[in-house]
Amino acid sequence: RTVYVNGEYLPETEATVSIFDRGFLMADGVYEVTSVLDGKLIDFEGHAARLERSLNELDMAAACTKDELLEIHRELVARNGIVEGMVYLQITRGSDGDRDFVFPDPETTKPTIVLFTQNKPGLADNPAAKKGAKIISIEDIRWGRRDIKTVQLLYPSMGKMMAKKAGADDAWLVEDGYVTEGTSNNAYFVKNGKIVTRPLSTDILHGITRKAVLRMAAEAQMEVEERLFTIDEAKEADEAFTTSASAFVMPVVEIDGVALGDGTPGPIAKRLREIYLDESLKAAI
Ligand code: PLP
Repeated sequence: RTVYVNGEYLPETEATVSIFDRGFLMADGVYEVTSVLDGKLIDFEGHAARLERSLNELDMAAACTKDELLEIHRELVARNGIVEGMVYLQITRGSDGDRDFVFPDPETTKPTIVLFTQNKPGLADNPAAKKGAKIISIEDIRWGRRDIKTVQLLYPSMGKMMAKKAGADDAWLVEDGYVTEGTSNNAYFVKNGKIVTRPLSTDILHGITRKAVLRMAAEAQMEVEERLFTIDEAKEADEAFTTSASAFVMPVVEIDGVALGDGTPGPIAKRLREIYLDESLKAAI
């Protein structure tokens, strides 16, 4: 693979970052994942806008302009021959060659920017989406600024491991009795034709796919309600699903061992997946 690091395209084995990098030592960094379908970027604008917001919230400098970012994304997709897959982008606060809790001087310390691609044939026509996901619920013990897309992914990663151990596919996080989101996706259930999802706040990541899917649902005359919901409500739903840039719309067929509806992907989740794939591919750049 050819990867990008701090202005250079290099073979992955030759790309290096300092051991003092604050991304490595302190998870002081942000990231984005943009899907590639048909060799084109899905919702690049949305990811670029959220990246800018994450950087602003953490007082981090932009490592390059949006146009440069687009160029790097496209160049990596082309050089690695990605037809279906992902572009991963990470920007960390860099390093001034030492470890200190205090941020280094931004005048003298440049951010570290790294991008690489992941080849994922069958991303759109995903067999997992035809089966639907089994979910377990676990307590949400993450920090309080989940709206910032930081690289602190240890707890989400532990959540996926807990799900795996329990014979499930993923975990939904529950705080004060209410579902916040999935380990790496936003969470929804459907009851009597109405789609319910948690409103945006600092408690959840403002999903780029969430925004697109809610717009498409409204355009398709589907009823949407943004409110807090409990895991018990979700277990009694007709169907459920998650959204993320890498899995699009993923039907959920089971929560904590309770089958939803007939235990197969529901009609609204399936339809939204189709609409999302169709429309976002048309708008891809
Ligand atoms: N929530 C969390 C915690 C995530 O990590 C992600 C994606 O990585 C999402 C939601 C979905 O966001 P998006 O649709 O922008 O991928």
